[in-house]
Amino acid sequence: MQSIASPTGAASPTTFDGRPGLLDMRGRALRDLRISVTDRCNFRCTYCMPAEVFGRDYAFLPHAEVLTYEEIHRLAGIAVGLGVAKLRITGGEPLVRRDLAALIAQLATLRTPEGKPVDLTLTTNGSALRPLAGALAGAGLQRITVSLDSLDDTTFRRMNGVDFPVARVLDGIDAARAAGLAPVKVNMVVKKGENESSIVPMARWARDEGLILRFIEYMDVGTTNGWRLDDVVTAGEIVAAIDAELPLEAAAPTYRGEVAGRWRYRDGSGEIGVISSVSQPFCGDCTRARLSAEGRIYTCLFSASGTDLRGPLREGASDDELRRILEDLWGARTDRYSELRSAATSHLPRVEMFAVGG
Ligand code: SF4
Repeated sequence: MQSIASPTGAASPTTFDGRPGLLDMRGRALRDLRISVTDRCNFRCTYCMPAEVFGRDYAFLPHAEVLTYEEIHRLAGIAVGLGVAKLRITGGEPLVRRDLAALIAQLATLRTPEGKPVDLTLTTNGSALRPLAGALAGAGLQRITVSLDSLDDTTFRRMNGVDFPVARVLDGIDAARAAGLAPVKVNMVVKKGENESSIVPMARWARDEGLILRFIEYMDVGTTNGWRLDDVVTAGEIVAAIDAELPLEAAAPTYRGEVAGRWRYRDGSGEIGVISSVSQPFCGDCTRARLSAEGRIYTCLFSASGTDLRGPLREGASDDELRRILEDLWGARTDRYSELRSAATSHLPRVEMFAVGG
């Protein structure tokens, strides 16, 4: 383990990107913490929380087992001290958790070891953005990502599993922009036989709206979405479909560890991203950890189990003790599931995506 950060948080530049921090066994720095504030969601997206498995009476985590905002703020502060520069608020659906702006306000006070504000963003299904965007922006949220799998109302209603109309998500995006959240990114999961015919219409719409659209290859997250390789539309196929109508050229990553491969429109009218976990794994530069709503840290989206922080935290552990748990965990990390994905890995237990926020 190449632990760079000292207990006091004083650090020296890593070999990963020149910033202070922690390296894992593959020389990857801890840079991003995805914080799931709830496992609850008001959608039942077929690739994440299929309704036939997670019915309306599904037992989500009891409130007492979910981290409080103060606990999240404390753990996030420790992670930022170890080199995390980006905090992404996720769920389930984060906007279903009450008074989320209060947490945003706390997290917005965090500073990196270099004294910079953390990059604070959030991923939402957009269903509650109209009433909440202003308060989130006012509390310090800088930017936002909205999941939207099609502009076609029939397709979208089918894929979200609860017959939610696309118009209300589009209205939420307008509300986010009106509140000054920028950039607004849009994530689209592409599944063969579901929405591949929406790829080019979504690309046109996002380009015309000045939104950054990221296409996500359908993944074998969790163990309940019935994933098959045959249902994957690869990054290459997505880019080819768009390029045929809206010529693209590859663009360089903006920073080491960026998840999406960038493609720019040749006419300069914008760009898209493609997240290709299945066809072009990017584990080599993976800088992400995930904190679940019940206080477990996962070092990979496809982990089977996480490491409990809520227990030690509620039993009175000091910041140093909690920091040591994180240091030891990340320092011993070797995760590279997507590089190893095969028929043999398909039966392995994996945490459900909605429990760790994707
Ligand atoms: S599979 Fe795991 S290690 Fe690989 S990029 Fe995804 S989260 Fe990171």
